[in-house]
Amino acid sequence: MTDLTDRIREVIRSNGPMPVSLYMLMCQHDPKHGYYAVRPGLGRDFATAPEISQMFGEMLGLWVAHEWRAMGAPSPFWLVELGPGRGVMMADMLRACATAQDVLTAARVVLVEASASLAKEQASRLSGRNVAHVADLASAPEGPAIVVANEFLDCFAIRQFVKDGSDWRERTIGLDDDNGLIFGLGVGVERLPDDAYAKGSEIEIAAGLDTVTQTLAQRFSAHPGRALFIDYGPKDFAPGDTLRAFRDGRQVGPLEQPGECDLTADVDFGRLLRLAEKARLTVHGPREQGGFLKELGLTERARALIRSNPGRLKEITAAETKLLSDAEMGSRFKAICLSSPGLPTPAGFFGTSP
Ligand code: SAH
Repeated sequence: MTDLTDRIREVIRSNGPMPVSLYMLMCQHDPKHGYYAVRPGLGRDFATAPEISQMFGEMLGLWVAHEWRAMGAPSPFWLVELGPGRGVMMADMLRACATAQDVLTAARVVLVEASASLAKEQASRLSGRNVAHVADLASAPEGPAIVVANEFLDCFAIRQFVKDGSDWRERTIGLDDDNGLIFGLGVGVERLPDDAYAKGSEIEIAAGLDTVTQTLAQRFSAHPGRALFIDYGPKDFAPGDTLRAFRDGRQVGPLEQPGECDLTADVDFGRLLRLAEKARLTVHGPREQGGFLKELGLTERARALIRSNPGRLKEITAAETKLLSDAEMGSRFKAICLSSPGLPTPAGFFGTSP
């Protein structure tokens, strides 16, 4: 058992069972023993789209160039990435913009990263570029901006609620008789969603979605801006019990190894859409990743890459399938774009497929 498990036990002993959100925050962000401090496990605990293929970041780079022009080509503008991982996607994006030098000249790259070791890796991968790190989106400098984020929203801590009779009760983490961590249900809470939920229904609420939409709404009302999020989650219903933990590419129990696994939950795209519209942002999507990337030209890019690298045919085709097909990431992942009012429809959101 880790020191972090002891810390969590102490907190539970003195304060009582803790909400899932606090458990997630301690596991992820504890400055000494949290996952982002000790084991940001990209490429080891999980593999993301930019890590699967350069084509993903390249398509997003072209997307940025297109949207920058649609915004009236403001110069300079902030190119912000939330949760850039190893910096691979930003490197691929900037390389893809090499044929559009005016975008590169205007772009000021700002990275928002919680993990000191990943921030270091991002800086070295992007050395030669003028890249600034900030602690959160609200600290990114003022001005026109294009924000991109892949697999960032799923890291937000969630609270889970379970319908018990006419009450909603919050799922908690407490201690069993052997001092082990165990899920339980806390006292009833009032005023959660409508009565349409049957007994036993579960919902998850990530407060981070409220914060991110409010920050974007504030920014994008003062200066033109556009934010693209790609992540996993359903688009037609709210996620129920989706807290998951990954270690070394395998799914493990979320209470098994606090701080040593990647903890995630599905993104509630419906709620994100409602929050954004309420904050007067224009919303496009959510749309399935497969349709979005096809519309941006990923299939053609794969063909071109194969033509110039015939020896890599198998690898490139496999990556294309992984990113696009419904059986893999194509439909499970969604893209959603939040913008200042009055901007044209963004690339990738014209299509009629889901
Ligand atoms: N976008 C990358 C990495 C995804 S993993 C990719 O697609 O490969 C999630 C990333 O978000 C990591 O870089 C993690 O350290 C960062 N992160 C998670 N929560 C964060 C927070 N609250 N603030 C800033 N960065 C965060």
